[in-house]
Formats: sequence, C-alpha cells, structure tokens
Amino acid sequence: MVGMSDKKTWPDTIHAGECEQHEPLVRRVLAPNPSPYTFTGTQTWIVGAGADVAVIDPGPTGSGMSIGDPPDANGRGHVDAILRAVEGQRVAAILCTHTHRDHSPAAAPLSKAAGAPIVGCAPLALLDDGPRADSAFDPDYAPDRVLADGERIAGDGWTLEAVATPGHTSNHLCFALVETGALFTGDHVMAWSTSVVSPPDGDMSAYMASLSKLYDRGDRVYYPAHGPAVTKPRQLVRGMLGHRKQRERQILRELEKGTAEIPIMVSHMYKGLDPRLTGAAGRSVLAHLIDLKARGLVRVRNEAWELT
Ligand SMILES: [Zn+2]
Repeated sequence: MVGMSDKKTWPDTIHAGECEQHEPLVRRVLAPNPSPYTFTGTQTWIVGAGADVAVIDPGPTGSGMSIGDPPDANGRGHVDAILRAVEGQRVAAILCTHTHRDHSPAAAPLSKAAGAPIVGCAPLALLDDGPRADSAFDPDYAPDRVLADGERIAGDGWTLEAVATPGHTSNHLCFALVETGALFTGDHVMAWSTSVVSPPDGDMSAYMASLSKLYDRGDRVYYPAHGPAVTKPRQLVRGMLGHRKQRERQILRELEKGTAEIPIMVSHMYKGLDPRLTGAAGRSVLAHLIDLKARGLVRVRNEAWELT
C-alpha cells in the first residue's frame, strides 16, 4: 500500500515492463500493478551506468501483488523486465524501502536470478486485520544486510546512503544517491498522493518527523516508488506538512462539534472521495487521533474520541 487518490491511474509515459532513463545514473522500470493505491504501478529504480547497478524496490510478484493479479501467473514478468534492463551489468545489490507487498516480494526471485544480495530495510510483517487487505506486508522478505540510518553501499560510480524515514511503515528507508543529490523516497513522499499512514505500524508522529527530516536535507530531486519525479522537493514537503496540519485542525473541529466516530469524520472531511478509499481515509484519521492523543489534545472515553 502506498497512497490514496482518486486521480486517474493512466497513462504513464511508459508501459509496464519498459525502462526509461531519468538521468545518467538513474533508470526506471514500471511494474504491471496500477490501482487507486499504487497509481500507475510500482516503479523499480535502477542506479548505476558502469559495471554494476543497484536495484531499488524490485516490486511485486504474482502471488504478492498489492491488488489483483499481474498478467503473468508466475510473477516473473517484472523480474524479467528488470533483468532485461540491466543486461550486461552485474546487480551488486537489491534494496527495498519497506516491506509492503507491492515493493519487496520480487527481491527473492531477482536475487536468485541475478546472484545479488538483498540489502536495505529491516524485515517487518504484521497481520493485517484492518479494512485494507492490500496493505499487507511481505512475510517472506529476508535481507542479507539491513542498513541503519546513514549507512552506505557503493558500486561503480554510485553511492547510496540509507535515510531512515519511519511513518508510512516503521521500517521505511529512503536512499540518497550521493553523487547527484537524488533521493529515492519509496512511499514516504510522492507527488501524486499523500502517503497512507495506517496504525498500528503506521505512525503519524514518526511520519511528520520524517517529513521534517527530508525538508532539512535539501535534496535536488525525489524519485518515488509511485508517480512522477519530484523536481521541487522542499516545496512539496512543505505542502505535505501543511496538509497534515490542516487535517489535524479539521479533526479537532469535528471533535469540537461532538463528532466522535471516525466514519462520520471521514464523510465530513473527504468530500467526494472514491468509496474504495474510505477505509484508508479512516486509517489516516485514526493515525492523526493517536498522534493527538499522545500530545494530550484528545482522549478516548466510553470508546468515543473527545477533546481533553
Ligand atoms: Zn507502502
């Protein structure tokens, strides 16, 4: 699971399986899993123009698709597309930003096919008992090496540094390409939609802190796992921080009016929302309420939310 938006999911500038060059060190291969939650699909980023490359977010496999099934029943289609894109180069590392099923399941088959280690975020798999079956975690993700905040991995002409960005998930990492000032933001910051923050693992306080962390970095460009590249990162992040503050004010106003139930808040706050996204919107409101509770602004009494 990534974000939520009622925006149209197509067209992209490329089709699933195709590879597109974004800058000399950076290419993108699109996975065949478009949906209201994944936009045009998961984007696998390939870093490196020399003897070896890093592959970021290898994407879903057949059984692990976030929504629906991919065209190929064995799930090899996207892995084959990645292998085609890197033909003649060695895969030095496979990196995953987090372990949602639209990001990490292809790491294992790609690792096997390319003989490359899986490096990146820590393993994390939670039972999904929420309303959102597509927010499932990948239970089979088994990294060879976990990167801590600030740790680096390097290859021929490229260096990637892990930037811990918990919030969307507790194990989320962004990866900074040191040579060019690009940041691979996974599901943390995307231009097409806000990121879904779904408790218990999704944490609004951590998410806001991770947004502020990126704002202070001043990267040149963001390459998210879904949707277009972000060429004015600070402007976008500032807008996102403002958007979350606005949602927070809306929730506090709802509580002032005596609204105590999340579905009713969602119906007031998200006018004209695609009905398929109401569950996700409710999870975001819950994440805000938990954050407000931690800050002492709201409480739960008789199973209802109210102002303190
Ligand atoms: Zn995700």
